[in-house]
Amino acid sequence: MTVAIYPGSFDPVHLGHLDIIERAARVFDRVVVAVARNSEKEGLFTPAERLEMLQAALEAMSKVEVDAFDGLTVEFAREKGARVLVKGLRAVVDFEYELKQASMNARLAPDLDTVFFMTSAPYYFLSSTLIREVARLGGPVTGLVPPGVEERLRAKFRRA
Ligand code: ADP
Repeated sequence: MTVAIYPGSFDPVHLGHLDIIERAARVFDRVVVAVARNSEKEGLFTPAERLEMLQAALEAMSKVEVDAFDGLTVEFAREKGARVLVKGLRAVVDFEYELKQASMNARLAPDLDTVFFMTSAPYYFLSSTLIREVARLGGPVTGLVPPGVEERLRAKFRRA
């Protein structure tokens, strides 16, 4: 049984993430989607809110579990019994960063392999940062995020 962990900030989850999760679930027996609480990135949604949105989007997928973690990804992967770390790759700009991360993680946990899924064509431009920016400026993000997330974004910026 091969468990894969898919870490990220998911602030918020978008269809590019869901595409990677669905594809990873076809390859591995179990996929743990892991929300990093201590990400250096400034958060719009709290880790609990990000977890809720992921859970709602993934409830029909029995092979997928959603959880949050603090500290090193490799430590959490070990706790979950994961052998594989799943990452998504968009444009070339992702490559250098991901190569550095994968190399450091390989040093920290030689038994854990990083496996990359190339983004599907419709999502190569999609990032949570861009989604937050468009929503902050009042633009529509319909068709880019799961149902429910768009409303949560609207509510966030109404209050702000
Ligand atoms: P974002 O970069 O959208 O803020 P995260 O930091 O939460 O997202 O990323 C979690 C993982 O998902 C990373 O491995 C990232 O490369 C991957 N990912 C993000 N957006 C996409 C996309 N549009 N297509 C493929 N992979 C993606």
